[in-house]
Amino acid sequence: FWEEAVKQIQEELTEQEFSLWFNRMSYASSRQDTIIVSVPSSFYRDQVKSRYLSLIENKLYELSGSRIAIEFQVQAVPSNSAPEKNQTRSVSPSSSPRGTSGSQPRSGTQNPSAPVARQEPAYRNRSSHHPSLKREYTFDNFIIGENNAFAANAAMAIAKNPGTGYNPCLVYGGVGLGKTHLLQSIGNSVYQDFGDSKIIYVTMENFTNEFIQAIREKKQHMFKNKYRHADVLLIDDIHFLQKKPETQEELFHTFNALYDSNKQMVFTCDRPVSELKEITDRLRSRFERGLNVDLQPPSYETRYAILKKKIEAAGVQIPEESINLICENVTTNVRDLEAALTKLIAYAELVNKSITVEITKQQLKDFFSSPIQKNITIAVIQRNVAEYFGVSVQELKSKRKTKTIAFPRQVAMYIARDITEYSTTEVGLEFGGRDHTTVMHACDRIKERMKSDPYLVGQIDSLKKAIREASNRA
Ligand code: ADP
Ligand code: MG
Repeated sequence: FWEEAVKQIQEELTEQEFSLWFNRMSYASSRQDTIIVSVPSSFYRDQVKSRYLSLIENKLYELSGSRIAIEFQVQAVPSNSAPEKNQTRSVSPSSSPRGTSGSQPRSGTQNPSAPVARQEPAYRNRSSHHPSLKREYTFDNFIIGENNAFAANAAMAIAKNPGTGYNPCLVYGGVGLGKTHLLQSIGNSVYQDFGDSKIIYVTMENFTNEFIQAIREKKQHMFKNKYRHADVLLIDDIHFLQKKPETQEELFHTFNALYDSNKQMVFTCDRPVSELKEITDRLRSRFERGLNVDLQPPSYETRYAILKKKIEAAGVQIPEESINLICENVTTNVRDLEAALTKLIAYAELVNKSITVEITKQQLKDFFSSPIQKNITIAVIQRNVAEYFGVSVQELKSKRKTKTIAFPRQVAMYIARDITEYSTTEVGLEFGGRDHTTVMHACDRIKERMKSDPYLVGQIDSLKKAIREASNRA
């Protein structure tokens, strides 16, 4: 089962992700309902646990039909590239909040031919965990700052009294700001406090796919039955619903059924509902009922607090100067902050070095600057921006001055100037032959607005990312 599970997981992950986390993990042994897996370090184990444990467990469940637990054993694997494992990076097991899981102390004199294995206790409260939720997504692990306090407090209030207060609730904000974390925290908390409630967490994408499949297999009644009998329905990323009229229709009825029986619903969205162009008015007005709260990008202080907490949880030591450097430069969102930290720790772990400011600068240079990428065309920018704002590329290039078109056009021009080397004249030509002063003016407008609108900063940031990715794929 292990091999088959890993094979299937390989198909689901990117090659890079798979080789980073799965290549250094190996089957060790098994007993009863438990598979024991070797991992090279405690950092690895914690990363794999938080990223992939649910995925692995679910795969094993699918394949075997029974619940199989995973135990990790940290095994100092003798490595050819680094036969002398000098322990220079300090790992402090005592500071690990996971207590019992403790990092395995390694020493420079360790004999690689006699690796010290340390077995961990099986994950004891596995059964007390809701299968579709990540156990790390709890309120305890969520750092509250001025950017997310309103949303976090609303989420906690909902978790205490599901269905009786803010219903429905919609949390919106850009990528990586903690929407999924908060949504699942509600689920985890309700699961703990009201064990017999029927909690459903689902992404809008999976809801849609399930619905399509139900129709195909003529099992709509089962689908309806499932969703219309939830006590707490948590739907992540409802913006996915745009341009899917049949799923919108189905969700509309699900909403009404749950709303009428005072069942709690919480949704997340990457923008305010008023900006969801391609959904029906009646559904939009349902989402706008109840409470709408936003998540903003974190301030320096909040970024610092989050980073500190994550560093402590990883049980690693990072110089204060490096922490400051990351906080100053990775400003976009929490996901990027985490990714920067993970990259740094992974590097130090793999080359067995302690983290210094130089290593931080060198390893995180991609996070610290946004380099000009040669393969980005204005056409790709136009396509992505048009799609995001629900207008057409022709409209972006047209002379029309209505706000709904002029604004996306300005955003597209700004991005074009920001991440390509095209001149204002060249950009102007691509936008229906406009003058270069128009492009300059557009860029100034957007820059000015970004100063007072962190939400726009987030939008532009995710657009840039999408454009970079699309260009690399092309
Ligand atoms: P979104 O769903 O908005 O794109 P996520 O909820 O996936 O964002 O958050 C991205 C990552 O950042 C997750 O690993 C999450 O745990 C972490 N994160 C976000 N906000 C916080 C926070 N306030 N405190 C701690 N971790 C956070
Ligand atoms: Mg999310």
